[in-house]
Order: sequence, then C-alpha cells, then structure tokens
Amino acid sequence: MLPLPGACGKRDDVCDVHLPPERLARMAWRRHNRPMGETYIPLADLRYAADLPRIPAQPAAPAGLLSDRLGRPLHDLRISVTDRCNFRCSYCMPKEVFDKAYRFLPHTSLLSFEEITRAARLFVAHGVTKLRLTGGEPLLRKHLEVLVAQLAALRTPGGESLDITLTTNGSVLERKAAALHAAGLKRVTVSLDAVDDAVFRRMNDVDFPVADVLRGIDAALTAGMAPVKINMVVKRGTNDDQIVPLARHVRDSYGPGVILRFIEYMDVGATNGWRMDEVLPSADVVRRLSAVFPLQPLQPSAAGETAQRWRYVDGGGEIGVISSVTQAFCRDCNRARLSTEGKLFLCLFASRGHDLRALLRGGYTDEQISGAIGLVWGDREDRYSELRGAGTATAGSGERRVEMHYIGG
Ligand code: SAM
Repeated sequence: MLPLPGACGKRDDVCDVHLPPERLARMAWRRHNRPMGETYIPLADLRYAADLPRIPAQPAAPAGLLSDRLGRPLHDLRISVTDRCNFRCSYCMPKEVFDKAYRFLPHTSLLSFEEITRAARLFVAHGVTKLRLTGGEPLLRKHLEVLVAQLAALRTPGGESLDITLTTNGSVLERKAAALHAAGLKRVTVSLDAVDDAVFRRMNDVDFPVADVLRGIDAALTAGMAPVKINMVVKRGTNDDQIVPLARHVRDSYGPGVILRFIEYMDVGATNGWRMDEVLPSADVVRRLSAVFPLQPLQPSAAGETAQRWRYVDGGGEIGVISSVTQAFCRDCNRARLSTEGKLFLCLFASRGHDLRALLRGGYTDEQISGAIGLVWGDREDRYSELRGAGTATAGSGERRVEMHYIGG
C-alpha cells in the first residue's frame, strides 16, 4: 500500500495543479488498472492537508451511538458536491481570489455519486439521519437529481427514510425544482442576501438579478417542497438595510410556509477578509425586526439546531437567527462534512481533513471504512467558535483554514 504523501511544499491552496497532466493521467490509468487485490491510495489533489484515517484492527459493527470526546453524537452529514459556484459573494468566494486563473478541482477528484452514496450509507449506519447537499453551488453538478434519488433510497437502521435537503443560491432552481422533488428532495434552503435588486446584484458580485432567485423559490413551493428556508448572511454596512424589507417580502409573498433565517457573517476560510466590525449580532437583527414586526422566542425544534427560533406575534410565521459568532453553538454540533473530493471535516473552521476518498478508492471494505469513521468521530474535540469567543482560537496547527465552498456550507 502506498503511503499518502505530505503537503507538496508549494502553494497550499492549489498544490494538485503542480502535477503535470501526463502524471495525473498515468495515476488515473494505474488506479483503474491495478492488479487484483492490490490496495492503492492515489496520490492526487492535496489541496488541503488530510490525514489518512486509521483503520481499526477489528472494526465493531456500527451501533448508531457514536460520541466524540465532548460527548457529541453524529446526526448530520453535509456533502459538498462541487467546489464551483456561479456567484462571487465577497464573504465566501471573493472575485479577486476566485478569478479566471483559479483552478477548481478536476472532475476526477470529485467523489462520484456512487462513492457519495456509499459513504452516506456508512454514516447513516453510524446514526446520521440528515443529509444536506451543498457546495459550491450544488445545482451546478450535472444530474444532481440522480444523486438525490440514490440518497433517498437509503434507510436508517430502524427502516426510516432520511431527511435530505439542499442549500442553493437559487439561480437555477426554477429549472430544477420539479425534478429534484420528484427524485426525493422534500425541502430546500435558498440563500438570499437582499430583496432589493441592486443590493442583491452587489452581494453576488456577478450582477445576477434577484427576480430569477425569487422565481426559483416559487418553483420549489409549486413543486411541493416544504418548508422552504431562506438564508440571509448579514454584513453590517453592506446589506443590513435589507433585514426588514426581506422579512416583509417573505411575510407578504409566502406567509408561514417559508422560514427566513439571518446568519452572522463568519470568519470561515482565509480569503474573505473578515472583520468583527462587519458582523451584525443576531440580537441586533431581532431588535430591528421586533420594532416593526413584534417577535417572541420559540423552543428549539430539534437538538443541535443551528438557528434560534422566533415567531411573529401576529401569527405571520417564524424566523431564525444563526449566531455562530456571538453565541457559538459548538457544544451541540452534531455535524460532519464531506468535502467535494471526499475529505471528512469535523468543523467548519478546520484546516485538516481525513481522506475518506483514499479509503473509498483504495479497496477497503465497508466494515473497515465504517470503523475508520467511528475512530475519527470518537477523536473529535474541536470547538473553534467557542474558543474564538473566548479569544483563544487558532486555526488548527497554523495551517490555512479550509474554504467554505470546498467543505460545503
Ligand atoms: N451555493 C450555495 C448557497 O449559496 O447556498 C451553497 C453553498 S454556500 C457556501 C452555503 C451557505 O453558506 C450560504 O447560505 C452562504 O450564504 C453561507 N456562507 C458562505 N460564506 C459565509 C460566511 N462567511 N458567513 C456566513 N455564512 C456564509
């Protein structure tokens, strides 16, 4: 078995592209033509550092009862299906960094639908009940409805179907909503940072009109997806004037069937130039909204829920606030993240992953990979946002933090 190489020592964000095409082709050929029985771990795409997961000598059957070092269970798997996006929101994929010269992952690096489904099945056996497809922009991945159908066929050990959802910028949702719903996607979250067209075009930074996204939301509702959630990232001084207009639009146009959530601008990745003074605390969002539409707090609907819920006193539905900067919720985090190229990350702010793809493509059995997942989760002790709040956070071992479009938001 070949060991995984360390970082290549060149630019850490793009080190795979230093490999000449002939070498990549040779590696792909070897991968597909290896002698029977030989276990092979491909040498490619070390975009971010990743450890090869340990395989237990005698893997125990998953019992759905994983618990990490802080006692956190594993319930939720986020799967990034592409690192590409057609928007260039400055808080996520700023244009200056993700320009024409930027090399996105080659198609061969992406997990195939079959690999994703196999991994998801192993996570479900470990207790995962919720899958979220994300990216990048997940609807840019061709035939995504085929993956949705494969995932929708999975069952929990108790025989129940999974809660499958998708986070999208909504740009092509109008065209895809019906097929996704027919494939088994019951609900969707649409990112929408403004209802005013000029502000929205500035936020996405590719001059994309808001009307197209609003038609995508309509299409999701018409297809029967429920609930539809809308996520607004609030950046102080940039789009915070949209809080009340967007809430009014959602109340007037859709009513209680659509839930608007406000997300604090986070210091994810290493490219968005995050500054604390651009974070508008959720408490301010609630205060501003309450002044126009009085609100009352609601109980969480599920353990580990990221959003704090509030209801409109007049019965106009509910909103949520996601306060990962001002009120970190690491203690309740039950999420794992599978990156576009099959690295398992345990924290949105991580800088190192665990190379599950090497196992998926390396001839390992389900039992071995399942055992490896159990060990990775059992070792988990990250709580970056809490440490940031306490002023003691550092990004891993000084390595660059992984970007959100790669790890999946
Ligand atoms: N392209 C899809 C979309 O726009 O929803 C899915 C991927 S996107 C990375 C997932 C979510 O992360 C979006 O709701 C986006 O607004 C949010 N996001 C990205 N960068 C963020 C940041 N720095 N702070 C807070 N939320 C962020």
